[in-house]
Amino acid sequence: MARDQHTVSRKFISDNALKVLYRLKKGGYDAYLVGGGVRDMLLGIEPKDFDIATNATPEQIKALFRNCRLIGRRFRLAHIVFGRDIIEVATFRGHHDSASDKQKECKKTSKQSADGMLLRDNIYGSIDEDAERRDFTINALYYSVENFNIYDFAGGVADIEQRLIRLIGDPETRYREDPVRMLRAVRFATKLDMEIGEETAQPIKPLANLLLNIPPARMFEEFLKLFVSGKALANFHMLRDYGLFEYLFPIVEQNLIAEQAQAEDHMSRFIQLAMSNTDQRINTNQRVTPAFLLAAFLWYPLSRQVTQLRQTTQLTPQDAFFAALHEVMSEQQRSIAVPKRFQAPMKDIWILQDKLARREGKRAYKAFEHPKFRAGYDFLLLRGEIEGGETAQLAKWWTDFQEASPESQQMMIKSVAGSRPARRSVRKRRKPRKASTGKAE
Ligand code: ATP
Ligand code: MG
Repeated sequence: MARDQHTVSRKFISDNALKVLYRLKKGGYDAYLVGGGVRDMLLGIEPKDFDIATNATPEQIKALFRNCRLIGRRFRLAHIVFGRDIIEVATFRGHHDSASDKQKECKKTSKQSADGMLLRDNIYGSIDEDAERRDFTINALYYSVENFNIYDFAGGVADIEQRLIRLIGDPETRYREDPVRMLRAVRFATKLDMEIGEETAQPIKPLANLLLNIPPARMFEEFLKLFVSGKALANFHMLRDYGLFEYLFPIVEQNLIAEQAQAEDHMSRFIQLAMSNTDQRINTNQRVTPAFLLAAFLWYPLSRQVTQLRQTTQLTPQDAFFAALHEVMSEQQRSIAVPKRFQAPMKDIWILQDKLARREGKRAYKAFEHPKFRAGYDFLLLRGEIEGGETAQLAKWWTDFQEASPESQQMMIKSVAGSRPARRSVRKRRKPRKASTGKAE
């Protein structure tokens, strides 16, 4: 597509991306803007980031840029670092069967698992080969700063016009190579408001279980892109429709099914409310933490587990809570590896649900001063909306408490103490436990 036939212009490309493109060009290499950057500009959306593809090898790229870091094993990539802005530069990838004998001999370049999953893919090639190795047609558009044309090797422009998400090549093979493409299909469909093409959609359900082969750390990255990007609710519904959600949150899926069997919908409504709140915050540029959403997803499974432990064991409420927390967390970690820095605030939010309920004496102030009070209170508000009754009253109490004068706060605490007997069993001193409360982050 020639320059006068499309809307992509240098004006919309970040200065850093342009710098990298021109430097590569000056170094005698071909360089193109590719992927989401070109796609989003054609759609009139502001690109999230700019990816570059070139015929320079990672070593050649490194030689051109002082601020260059080579990363990745599965895919070797160059990161050109401009402070917080990072421009990703990838060398054109080639076909496995067209790799030179020398490349084939080198076991480090490409590797496939028994399921056909690509464990490593570092065979270099030409631009048209690179296009075929990309996932969707709409992601295989290349913008040249040489002549400002857009090169479309896979029919991506037509698919953008028809608003179709279509895999390049044979869908089943492409999903087997990299099952995460199933999650990406859903993500792009909701993000770009497009349909997943029939042939691309059809194999998803039968192949969904291939996601079990994806390392939990990579699944966490995908979780962030799906649920902390302003489209959580839409992604949730579509992921469930395609049978993919259970591979991200198996316990949540089980609980959703169990709940439905009992004609209940507390948890379903609660997590949907948490997702729509998160979406709303992101879409109005407010801060969000993945910890809040994760805490919401797992709250009812956790509560059920506590109840079950209390019915079947002699554990104190406190011990039952921590035992359940441990079980739910370690189960979840098998699908999505939640980094420690998010686990700690999740636990704080949960622990605060109990602390916020017990307000006698100095406890209300202690809870109020907790570093994660705000998140715990917001969480309680959401629960109140769904549960109503005592939980809603408790949330209201805390809303009033925060606005009250110190004298009124005292009164509020006194009236709580008067109306409720102190619960002896849970006042027992807790055994010292590492990383259970307090110090968040
Ligand atoms: P966004 O950045 O908006 O999420 P994107 O399309 O730029 O979307 P990235 O994850 O940044 O997505 O990847 C950049 C490009 O790399 C994609 O457009 C695609 O061409 C290619 N790509 C990324 N992941 C894969 C994959 N799993 N398989 C094949 N190609 C991929
Ligand atoms: Mg991108």
